[in-house]
Amino acid sequence: MIKNLKSLKNLEDKIVLTRVDFNVPFNDKGEITDITRIKGALPTIEYLREAKAKIILFSHLGRITSEEDKKTKSLKPVAKKLAEITGYKIIFVPKNRGELVEKAIRILKPGEILMLENTRFQDFVDGKQVNYESKNNDELATYWSKLGDVFVNDAFGTAHRSHASNVGIASKMENKAIGLLMEKEINFLDKAVKTPESPFVALVGGAKVSDKIDVIKSLLEKADKVIIGGGMAYTFHKAQGLSIGNSLVEEDKVELAKALLSTYKDKLIVAVDSAYTTEFADNVPEYGDEVPEGNMGLDIGPKSIELIKNELENAKTILWNGPFGVTEFSNFSKGTNEIAMTIAEKDDVISIVGGGDSVAAVVSMGLAKEFSHVATGGGASLEYIEGKVLPGIKIFETTEEKN
Ligand code: ADP
Ligand code: MG
Repeated sequence: MIKNLKSLKNLEDKIVLTRVDFNVPFNDKGEITDITRIKGALPTIEYLREAKAKIILFSHLGRITSEEDKKTKSLKPVAKKLAEITGYKIIFVPKNRGELVEKAIRILKPGEILMLENTRFQDFVDGKQVNYESKNNDELATYWSKLGDVFVNDAFGTAHRSHASNVGIASKMENKAIGLLMEKEINFLDKAVKTPESPFVALVGGAKVSDKIDVIKSLLEKADKVIIGGGMAYTFHKAQGLSIGNSLVEEDKVELAKALLSTYKDKLIVAVDSAYTTEFADNVPEYGDEVPEGNMGLDIGPKSIELIKNELENAKTILWNGPFGVTEFSNFSKGTNEIAMTIAEKDDVISIVGGGDSVAAVVSMGLAKEFSHVATGGGASLEYIEGKVLPGIKIFETTEEKN
C-alpha cells in the first residue's frame, strides 16, 4: 500500500515539507504559459492549509548547468502566480538552504505557505556542476529533511527519478505520504493499465520510436488496439515498404517495426496517410497515402483521421500520448486537434492524455476538462504505463500493519 495524505494524522502546527511539481513552461518574455501543474498542486496545498499545517513548498524548475541559468530558472514568478491564483500570501525565500530559510521557517504560522527557491539550484554550486539535487546527495537530503516534521510528495512528474527533494527526503523521514495529485495520477493510470475497461484503445504519437518503444510494447500487451501516428509512424511506413520521402525515420528501428507489425497484425494500426510538404515549415500541406520523394510528412491525413474516429467509436478506455503531427505548425496541427476533439466529445469513457506536448495541445484547445485525466507528468506517466516501479512512489510503500 502507498501511504496517502489523508492517512496522516495531527498535521496541526506541523512543518510539512511538500514536494510539488512547479516545473512550468515559460515564454521568452519570462511569462508562465501553462498553469496546469500549479493548479494540480492546489488540492494538497488546500488540504494542508485546512489542517493548519505550516507548508513549505519545494519544486524544481528546468535544468541548472550555470550561474546564468539561475537568473531565468528562479521560482519567484511561480510563487507570484500561485499567490495570484489562490489569493493567499506566498512567502518566497530566494534560497533553499541556510540561515535565511531556517529563520523564515521558524516564524511561519499554521496555515501559512512558504516557497523555497528551485531545488536544482543545488545542482550547480560554487561554479561547479555538483548535481546534489539530481544525484540525490545524502547530505542535502538530510539537511532538507531536518527542516520539517512531515514530508508530502505530490510531484508525480519526477516520481521516476531519485532526487534529493523526493526520494532523498522521503528516505530520511518517518512521517510521510504521497499528495492528492500523486494519488489521483496513480489511480487513473492504474485504471488504464491494470484494469482497463475494454475496448481499450491507445494512441501513441510524437517524434521518435526510440522514445516510446517500451510504452508501445507494453500497450500492445494491454490494449485492444494501438494506433501509431506522428513522426514515429514513418519508421513503420518504411517497414511496410511505403515511400516516406524525407520524413523523420529511425533506420535502426525499421526491423523492430516490421516485427511488431507482423506479431500484432490485428492490434497495431499505423496512420494510413499524411499531410506533407517540401520542408520543415508551416506550409500549406498536400495529402497522400505515401510521402513523395523530396517531401516530408508532418501530420496525419484525412483518411487516418477517419480511421481513428472509427476505432474510437466504441472505445471504453482511451489512452493518448504524443501528438500526431508537428503541432508547433498550425497547418500540421489538424490531426492532433481532431483526435483531441473526438476524445473530448465522448461520454462514458475513461480518457487519459499524458505527455508534455500532447497535454499542451489539449490545454491550448481548452479541452482539458473534457478528459477524465490529464497526466501532468510526461516521463513518469510513460514509465508507469511501461510497468516500471517508480522510486518516488515506491518509497511511500508501507505494509498495512505498520500504519
Ligand atoms: P509528448 O511530449 O506528448 O510525449 P513527444 O515529445 O514524444 O510528445 O513528441 C512531440 C514532438 O513530436 C513535437 O515536437 C512534434 O513536433 C513532433 N512530431 C510529431 N509529428 C511529427 C512528424 N510527423 N515529424 C516530425 N516531428 C513530429
Ligand atoms: Mg515531449
